[in-house]
Amino acid sequence: MTFSSAGWADAPCSLRFDWPMTSMRCDYCGQDGSIHYRIRTAASVNWRFACPECWKVQSQQPQYQYGGTRKANRRQR
Ligand SMILES: [Zn+2]
Repeated sequence: MTFSSAGWADAPCSLRFDWPMTSMRCDYCGQDGSIHYRIRTAASVNWRFACPECWKVQSQQPQYQYGGTRKANRRQR
């Protein structure tokens, strides 16, 4: 997998699945993930969460809107 755009420093190759909260699933493919993008397209009036893979597809849709990033893994210091 290669990301076309730069600035993907927050997209690790290996995702962690041990966060204490309820599992977060992509609203498009249904897979768990530690990071999702809050987006909205012409296909839906409601905000949805898309994993990076689905985001790449959905960001090409008409009326695409970006509403933020959701991260599950809390950074430990
Ligand atoms: Zn997905």
